[in-house]
Amino acid sequence: MELKKEHNYFHQLSKLRRKPLVIAGPCSAETREQVLETARQLKEMQVDIFRAGVWKPRSKPGSFEGVGTEGMKWLQEVRQQYGLPVATEVARPHHVEIALKHNIDVLWIGARTTVNPFDVQELAEALRGTQVPVMVKNPVNPDLQLWAGAIERLWAVGVQDVAAIHRGFSTYEPAVYRNLPLWQIPIQLRGLYPSLPVLVDPSHIGGKPDLVLPLSQKGLDLDFEGVMIETHPNPAEALSDAAQQITPAALGEILAHLQVRSVPD
Ligand code: PEP
Ligand code: MN
Repeated sequence: MELKKEHNYFHQLSKLRRKPLVIAGPCSAETREQVLETARQLKEMQVDIFRAGVWKPRSKPGSFEGVGTEGMKWLQEVRQQYGLPVATEVARPHHVEIALKHNIDVLWIGARTTVNPFDVQELAEALRGTQVPVMVKNPVNPDLQLWAGAIERLWAVGVQDVAAIHRGFSTYEPAVYRNLPLWQIPIQLRGLYPSLPVLVDPSHIGGKPDLVLPLSQKGLDLDFEGVMIETHPNPAEALSDAAQQITPAALGEILAHLQVRSVPD
């Protein structure tokens, strides 16, 4: 069941702060120092939720697959030291269990999980009866119904605080974007569920720092409720998505340049 917009966690948070929601943090939690240093710098900005992946779905084996459960306590430290709600990606029911045991504030389902209804249903079952807010990234392929279906599976088990994240769609053709924006798809999603907050993830759409500002602006121009932006204290050294992460200082610049018309009701 779709929750009334004014009661939705993500909507309330942005209304409370009277600005679009800003979710930021590294692609991956790598070390305790990296996580806490990123959070320390982000705390100075208008960041509402700190993100970091601890279970990383990587295309190729042999790349960094995340620190796993150990990262949970670093996220807890971020909440304790900086008072920021923390978010992480879950792809398996046991991820949900572990994250909830560590009181992670917000979960998200990644693009490679949204693509599989069996996986989404298993996550939904693990979330049944919980109150945790969940963000659903679009599937890697441009399939509106698959995205909508994942959201409905969460509503069907009673997860009420759901948001969608637009992170673009895979393409084989050479393109400016890492993942094509195909804006008409998230726009159609909003048409299906007018109360659903939609955020834009310019980091994974653009795949490069220069595109973070224009893609964020485009999302806000479309009245999306906020942005999710990957930030790392030393992007060049990042263990995942090094090409697209930006420093917290660069994020600060971008936030200062974003034109916000008004926070949507
Ligand atoms: C991420 O947010 O780091 C991530 C893995 O994103 P996506 O699922 O959009 O590829
Ligand atoms: Mn990433």
